[in-house]
Amino acid sequence: MSDRCHWTFEGELAHFIPGCMGGAVGGPEGCTCDHPLSAIEREREARQEAEEYVETLREKAQRRNEFVESLMRQNKHLCAEIRRMKALVGEDPRRRIT
Ligand SMILES: [Zn+2]
Repeated sequence: MSDRCHWTFEGELAHFIPGCMGGAVGGPEGCTCDHPLSAIEREREARQEAEEYVETLREKAQRRNEFVESLMRQNKHLCAEIRRMKALVGEDPRRRIT
C-alpha cells in the first residue's frame, strides 16, 4: 500500500485511496500528502479551463455563422431585387456587364 493518497481507476470510475490521516478523514479535499492529488487537481483545473475556452469558441463561431447567414439572406434579397429591376427596364437578365 502506498504511503500517499492516490487515485485508482476502473474505466471512468475514480476511487480515492487515502494514505494520510487528512485524506482518511476529509477525503481528497482533506489530503495533506501534497503529491498525486495535487497533480489530479491541476489536471481538473486545466480541463475546466480548456472546456470554458472551447465553449467561448463555440459561441464565437455561432455568432459568426449567424452573421454570415444574415449576409446570405441580404444577398439573396438584393439578387432578387436586381432581377426585378432588370425585368422592369427590359434588359436581358442573362446578359453580363463586362
Ligand atoms: Zn493524503
